[in-house]
Amino acid sequence: LNVLVAPVLDLEGHNKGIVIVFHDITQLKKLERVRQDFVANVSHELKTPITSIKGFSETLLDGAMYREEHLKQFLSIISQEAERLHRLVEDLLQLSQIEQRQFELNWQKVNLAEVMNNSLRVIEAKAEAKEIKLEYTPPVESTFVEADPDRLQQIVINLLSNAIQYTPEKGEVRLSIDPWAEKGYRICVSDTGIGIHKEEITRIFERFYRVDRARSRASGGTGLGLAIVKHLVEAHQGEITVESEPGKGSTFCVYLHRQRNKQDNKQKNR
Ligand code: ADP
Repeated sequence: LNVLVAPVLDLEGHNKGIVIVFHDITQLKKLERVRQDFVANVSHELKTPITSIKGFSETLLDGAMYREEHLKQFLSIISQEAERLHRLVEDLLQLSQIEQRQFELNWQKVNLAEVMNNSLRVIEAKAEAKEIKLEYTPPVESTFVEADPDRLQQIVINLLSNAIQYTPEKGEVRLSIDPWAEKGYRICVSDTGIGIHKEEITRIFERFYRVDRARSRASGGTGLGLAIVKHLVEAHQGEITVESEPGKGSTFCVYLHRQRNKQDNKQKNR
């Protein structure tokens, strides 16, 4: 709480009383702390790959490059870490654009079935590598919504990619589209993976929050995927839900309206 006390004087300069201003800065302090945490997180995430790239390239220059087995191994680490940096910067850039509303959705009539097919194609190899069964029954009727097809695909790929990531080998990942009452459609991604504890479900959409930091990092995750997904779903005026049971698996569902509310968007973009 900020308190400001000042005397109130009349035109002749006589004291008429005092004015006390109470300014509640709890919210401001909180925002400042969130900002500081974010900067600390970003710095840490950038520092790790940079340290690695520096270390391995210096070791190579110091002579390790003359040993063939080291040359290949170290170069491959350098390349992976550079790739991680690239992903991180791309994700950060996108997140900041979304948060500052500097990006516009390319609204058009989109066939959800097509988005599903494209997303599955992108993710297929990743599932195969872990012998994970990808289950999907295409909808029988046409499933059109007003949306941005690229962003929608990004949402679905992200959810599928996480489902595969957090499911042990030989597990199952299921993708489905169902009607959502009269309003639109529900897209769900279910897995038979490690699941998420109840206390953590609300936190996984936070920037950089990971249930298991080491596991996420080892798999190349940036910890920003779900934060981006949530923003993109909200930009579509949709909703995202999660149900999960540790050890059994998780289901993420995205609810999309058939048509956007143009009024709503105007207000949000103001
Ligand atoms: P990451 O790059 O770490 O995957 P995300 O933002 O995509 O970052 O996800 C945040 C965290 O949520 C993950 O680190 C993981 O702990 C958890 N998570 C996301 N999807 C799943 C899933 N399908 N099953 C279990 N845990 C998940």
